[in-house]
Amino acid sequence: MIIYNINEAPFIKEMCDVTLKLWEKGWAERNGGNISYILKEEEVTPYLDTHQAIDETELPMPLPELAGKIFLVSGSGKYFRNVIKNPADALVILKISQDGKYYQRLWGLANGGNPTSELASHLKCHAIRLKHDPDHRVILHTHATATIAMTFVHDLDEKKFSKTLWQQITECLVVFPEGVGIVPWMVAGTIDLGLASAAKMEYCRIVIWAHHGIMGAGSNLDDALGLVETVDKAADIYLRSSAAITGIKQSITSDELRALAKTFNVTPREGIL
Ligand code: 13P
Ligand code: ZN
Repeated sequence: MIIYNINEAPFIKEMCDVTLKLWEKGWAERNGGNISYILKEEEVTPYLDTHQAIDETELPMPLPELAGKIFLVSGSGKYFRNVIKNPADALVILKISQDGKYYQRLWGLANGGNPTSELASHLKCHAIRLKHDPDHRVILHTHATATIAMTFVHDLDEKKFSKTLWQQITECLVVFPEGVGIVPWMVAGTIDLGLASAAKMEYCRIVIWAHHGIMGAGSNLDDALGLVETVDKAADIYLRSSAAITGIKQSITSDELRALAKTFNVTPREGIL
């Protein structure tokens, strides 16, 4: 029986709080970043009939490991700054079908739209993290400034990168002893990026997307955000203390920018690439 207004649900309030915090940090410019949060059936049922789907969409890849799971997900193109103003417009609650091939929309995206374009990455990463940690619930992707900057000046070997991070603040090794995974620059929103990220999530909870952002996993929103904050603080200290003299080591290439333009159907101004 539905008895409460979903806008009052703790999971919606938490999501509004975290999306606003990410914007305040300067990590969520425009629609930058996306979050997905596993909800327990018993958390949702006071607010929603979890068997009442509004519509159903085929997943980019079958994920039978996630059958029946319910997710609160940010919408594609939605500005994190605005989630708090209208959660029903910016967020979506979806449920994976029993065969793992579809997701059913239970609530949200009230004015249309789709879940985040990084849904494939999120779901695949959830499936992997759940294998290793039964308490796992959150995947958070954000454009953490210092972390992105560090990918321009530091060797992208993930062991070297992890060691440098550990050396910046005492707590780092304690917070992420498994280090970080790094994937090279890839076109955003692709299955390939999802699969590459998920492969890293087999052994770590942080995956850095070179020249793009960071993905963190956690048992709740605070946990995932705290992990990402710790990595970014270490990256910031590294940049302030040493990187100014290191110089840029790698960047997004012209060919990669062309691939991005093709995928997103935009025409770069003539003569630049
Ligand atoms: P979405 O708006 O589709 O979530 O994309 C934002 C983003 O950060 C892509 O990596
Ligand atoms: Zn992004």
